Amino acid sequence: MNGIMFYLDRDVPLIRGHTIYIDSPWALTSISQAQFWPSFDLEAMGDGRVEGILSVDISEWEREGAVHRKQAMYCSSDEVSEEVWAQLKQALNDAGIGVLEDVNLLSWFLDPSIVYPNPNEASNLEPLLVNTVGSWSDRPDALTSIENLFLVSDYVRTHTDLATMEGANEAARRAVNGILDAAGSSAPRCGVWGLEEPAIFAPARAIDRIRFQLGRPATQAVRIREGRTDASPLLRTTAPVAERLARVRG
Ligand SMILES: Cc1cc2nc3c(=O)[nH]c(=O)nc-3n(C[C@H](O)[C@H](O)[C@H](O)COP(=O)(O)OP(=O)(O)OC[C@H]3O[C@@H](n4cnc5c(N)ncnc54)[C@H](O)[C@@H]3O)c2cc1C
Repeated sequence: MNGIMFYLDRDVPLIRGHTIYIDSPWALTSISQAQFWPSFDLEAMGDGRVEGILSVDISEWEREGAVHRKQAMYCSSDEVSEEVWAQLKQALNDAGIGVLEDVNLLSWFLDPSIVYPNPNEASNLEPLLVNTVGSWSDRPDALTSIENLFLVSDYVRTHTDLATMEGANEAARRAVNGILDAAGSSAPRCGVWGLEEPAIFAPARAIDRIRFQLGRPATQAVRIREGRTDASPLLRTTAPVAERLARVRG
């Protein structure tokens, strides 16, 4: 997973949160920045023309894109930019409304951690930590057996069980509570709660769980993404709804 930013001459807020382009070939997600930084004067930056910034994560670097028919890891940075922009437009302009227009695109910035060539494909110098299946029980708690040592990071064992800002945040809440306990403080403790998952994905998760218990690979989601006719009819029905909901919920 790595990111590219698109600088626009008009703000395109999309939604107040993350957008998941669940069927995009390169597994894109985006966030439209300006709405979250109301006191930041974008016009005071650069040549003053930027009014909106779209930050995009690319999570699939090994699947062919729609424009260049190449995997992201074999694309030049120009090609990555063209392809991601095209996939965003494909998803957002689908109702015939020009949400994203080429004319509004001023420039883009691909994370410099993506380096070329290595020797002939892109390489990511800052790979995303992904907690692997089964690692939860091996990971450390925020509180350690050393009384004044607390761990606050996305690898800590939390309810979130995912290397995210929420996971790091939960680890921090646990560590703060540990510090308050150790200090004998009467201050209110931070809340610690379970991870909420969108109910709409429950059928897909249930089917995957059953397949896992039967020792079969969890292939349903892949089949749907590839438009295969052997995908589960139930999931085929719920997938478009799930996609819309994911966009709305962010
Ligand atoms: C491309 C990408 C997209 C992501 N998107 C999302 C998202 O949309 N939502 C989400 O929730 N999470 C996302 N994440 C994950 C999220 O960013 C991390 O899980 C989270 O930032 C981890 O927080 P942390 O405090 O554990 O570590 P970090 O944020 O990595 O902080 C560790 C800090 O320690 C510093 N450091 C390291 N070594 C030293 C040293 N020796 N001395 C001093 N400082 C040091 C580092 O420079 C860094 O600033 C994304 C991650 C990536 C890479």
